[in-house]
Amino acid sequence: MTAGLLLRRLAHDGRGGFRHGDSRFLLIRPETLVGVQQAVERALGARAAECFVEGGRAGGARALSSIAGSAEERARGLTAMAADLGWGTLAVETLTPTSLVVIGSNSPFPAAHAATGDPVCHLTRGVLEALAENLFGRRVPVHETHCEAAGAERCRFEAVDVSSHPAQGGGAVDVSSHPGRTGGKMGGTPRPPHS
Ligand SMILES: [Zn+2]
Repeated sequence: MTAGLLLRRLAHDGRGGFRHGDSRFLLIRPETLVGVQQAVERALGARAAECFVEGGRAGGARALSSIAGSAEERARGLTAMAADLGWGTLAVETLTPTSLVVIGSNSPFPAAHAATGDPVCHLTRGVLEALAENLFGRRVPVHETHCEAAGAERCRFEAVDVSSHPAQGGGAVDVSSHPGRTGGKMGGTPRPPHS
């Protein structure tokens, strides 16, 4: 999917909704989401982040249900869709059978968030947890190790599947053969992520 294509495909249903197929989309200002995020942070403290990660996982899993192909194609499809929808650019830096690193820039959340020393892109992190689960076939936590909101040049997200032990499983696992539970039926031709 090329940049901007999804947005151009959205059809207004004449009743206050945007649709693409059977999926509804909502244009929302970052200030709205960040306002909710900061209110939940005031109420829950550090536990707030996980609430937004869970929301991101739900949306990411929905997005991945429409993306088929090899592991690399699914990763690139999801990051292209994120850019299409205004979440900034997400570039897959590393994709192996046990690790995923994604570099984010121009995230919509830091600019709308008050100055902070902590990462704030929890929704994006949740979307990438859905991707990691899709790629690895199991829940894998994603950490935002660097964030534009905390002064970094880019946001950096890292998933490491620590529960996977390729040495004990008869060699490296081809992630392409594990489309995961969240993505529905996967088409395409499986191939290694770096072929
Ligand atoms: Zn960030």
